[in-house]
Amino acid sequence: MAGGHERAFGREVVERSRAADILHADLDAFYASVEQEADPSLRGRPLIVGWPGPRGVVLSCSYEARAAGVRNGMPSMRAKRLCPAAVFVPARFDAYQEKSRGFREVLRSFTPLVETTWMDEAFCDVSGAHTLYGSTLELATAIRRRVAGELKLICSVGAGSTKFVAKMASRACKPNGVLVVGDSPAFLSPIDVGDLWGVGDATAARLHELGIRTVSDLLATPATLLRRELGQSLGSHLAALARGGHDEELATGDYDAKSVGAEETFETDLASEDRIQAEILRLADRVASRMSAGGVAGRCVTVKIRLASFATHTRSRTVREPTGDLWTIYRLAREAYESFGRGRQRVRLLGVSMSGLVHGPLAQQLSLDRTPPHAEAAKALASVRRRFGQDALTPARLLRPD
Ligand SMILES: [Mg+2]
Repeated sequence: MAGGHERAFGREVVERSRAADILHADLDAFYASVEQEADPSLRGRPLIVGWPGPRGVVLSCSYEARAAGVRNGMPSMRAKRLCPAAVFVPARFDAYQEKSRGFREVLRSFTPLVETTWMDEAFCDVSGAHTLYGSTLELATAIRRRVAGELKLICSVGAGSTKFVAKMASRACKPNGVLVVGDSPAFLSPIDVGDLWGVGDATAARLHELGIRTVSDLLATPATLLRRELGQSLGSHLAALARGGHDEELATGDYDAKSVGAEETFETDLASEDRIQAEILRLADRVASRMSAGGVAGRCVTVKIRLASFATHTRSRTVREPTGDLWTIYRLAREAYESFGRGRQRVRLLGVSMSGLVHGPLAQQLSLDRTPPHAEAAKALASVRRRFGQDALTPARLLRPD
């Protein structure tokens, strides 16, 4: 199965010409730039944010300090030796949080599909924003202009057809740059495997030992060999990265949100709709039980669907009133799943999670209101049966212990 499947997957990703609709926006030298913006006397100077003492580390450094070899995470003493002229300032996290909020607001004014990965980095899906803002390059430029104008910060923007390519592009164009990658294979091929996002030193060293130095070498290496030498999951993952990365959607939940979730990877990929509905119900029941145990209710149900190709998709449904009710969670999860439309593709993993959580008395009240899970499950079951026939589910399989 592996060989044919792998080839089909590779062909699909390489040959499908997808628009470069995923942006990775990354503020340059974030903490240091905030400090230089706040205090003009620091501009143009090698600046290090961090404690200068023997146990201090560089949290962020300006490009003037980088030019002397200083890097984030380096011990302060070493940074001082490399750049004796560097000015140290203490970190002011409140100020960075505020700028970070402003950054997210700017991005969300272009598209609601924003996944914040760190205070100063986010992915945006701009596929629905072209009518208003023009091409990807025009969008990226408009974002950079707004960030410069409103936040007085510089951000670099990379764009590509996947998060992976977008991230590699923003890295390649830093600082103060923009790069839209239209042809992922041509862009990725010459890159050293050690420079790939998500590839650590140990993996890079192992690849180099195998004579694999660039992405083009990686592409020329059979996936079976990669899996044998590096293990099943890492081997498959690298093979996918060489082809532009997984075609996953953005996790656009609130940056600060906590969530309660359950997910399951199936031993055999699921093909039948009945089985998928049953698994969603079972996952919803696990989530409802956990929420009840934790005394929380929530407003946003997200379903995660990983297909046999490893492409991962999420779909969400949000309601006004927080809920902890199994039936409501199941109904929302099913609606979210149905809005995805998997076609004939098999499902490798399903997840259901609840975010937008509320704690305390309200949640307490809601969980007290919750009717016993079996009654709810019976109702849900009846509904699945109405749609899919009497044999769609059996109570035994639903109530099977985890
Ligand atoms: Mg940054």
